[in-house]
Amino acid sequence: MSILIYFSLGLYKTKYKSLLIGVNGSISVIFCMSFPFTVFSGYIYDLRILPFIITILYGGVRPGLFVALVLLLYRYLLGGSGFVVTSFCYIPIFLFTAVFVRFYAELSKTKVITFGTLLASVSALFVTVGSIIKSDEAILQHLSFFVYYCLTLMTCTWITLYMIETIKDNVKMREEIHRSEKLNVLGELAATIAHEIRNPLTVSKGFIQLMKSRVNNETDLKYSTLALEEIDRAESIVSEYLMYAKPQADKTEQIHIKKLFHNVLQIIEPYITSHGHILNYKIEDALYIHADAKKFTQVMINLMKNAVEAMEHSGQLTIHVYGGQYDVVIEISDTGTGMTKEQLSRLGVPFYSTKDKGTGLGLMVCYRIIEALEGTIQVESTKGVGTKFSIAIPKAAEPMESR
Ligand code: ADP
Ligand code: MG
Repeated sequence: MSILIYFSLGLYKTKYKSLLIGVNGSISVIFCMSFPFTVFSGYIYDLRILPFIITILYGGVRPGLFVALVLLLYRYLLGGSGFVVTSFCYIPIFLFTAVFVRFYAELSKTKVITFGTLLASVSALFVTVGSIIKSDEAILQHLSFFVYYCLTLMTCTWITLYMIETIKDNVKMREEIHRSEKLNVLGELAATIAHEIRNPLTVSKGFIQLMKSRVNNETDLKYSTLALEEIDRAESIVSEYLMYAKPQADKTEQIHIKKLFHNVLQIIEPYITSHGHILNYKIEDALYIHADAKKFTQVMINLMKNAVEAMEHSGQLTIHVYGGQYDVVIEISDTGTGMTKEQLSRLGVPFYSTKDKGTGLGLMVCYRIIEALEGTIQVESTKGVGTKFSIAIPKAAEPMESR
């Protein structure tokens, strides 16, 4: 209940998030302790450990201490024997959880749930040890207590963590959708601006051509030629951009890989060099695939952009394209930050991004497009060394007219 209330009231958005988690946990602890249940006489169960652990995991150490304080105070008020022994049980549980919480944020959803549940079983063990110390029942009795208690606690922890993680995922997804909608609007705006830039470019080009035909000294001729070249370049960048900004239906065709890369590199090379990186490429000729040129270009640009973003300074981006027996293989390597196994396993998952302004959609799009082409993407990466994306796409025959 308290978790649902926490999320549905949007409390996670507020400044006092940790405080609210602490208060939430304390209320849950009081409820748990007020309504315990007895399975066999002498052993009273309750699930107070659960809100205690959850508070530390999601709120941090300070709210955890707050809940511990409330828990002990309430335990004291309830009276009964063994207050001191019980209190001591919570110290190792607290320490264990506090250490665990350092690694918690980096784990994937399944691991978070699994480790959290294991943590609950360890806590159950400490509580049982506590109850062994304070009573003198037969050891067998304690064993069945432990089994019941441990299973109940683990089940409840699993359900709780699963719920929290699922809701968190949904919340994140909603925020990301919001953001990508904003990006969409920005993309449209950019397309409009790009379109508007074309007209003044055309006019300038016309006048410079006119001037060029009238100049009669070397230097002016050189300058006007340069100016024209640069305007041509600006024009081609604008038109390329407009081509990719508009969503369009699939149009598969025979693609000459080398020609396509020529265009791709023209767009992306200034981006790479302006970030201070070096571009190396080796592209075999006479390779063809069947694909939608625009979509395929998008894949290449997304991958190269990621590579550039992964490198800090004077990195090397290497593109190697060659023909295998049945496939065309494209390798894009960078000398960037690289990824851990954990990060690798999450690639292509929508909205997974480690960047502040990332969308986490780039790779998802790449994976989908390559999948549709019946190709494969493989990633090798070493943290701190670099990353290599290898794409294999079925070869197509050389078109008739070019033979
Ligand atoms: P975005 O670029 O918006 O973050 P992507 O889907 O393109 O989204 O990439 C997802 C994540 O994958 C990135 O945030 C980054 O952590 C990781 N990544 C992708 N390519 C590389 C790379 N070449 N080197 C290191 N990390 C990468
Ligand atoms: Mg990206």
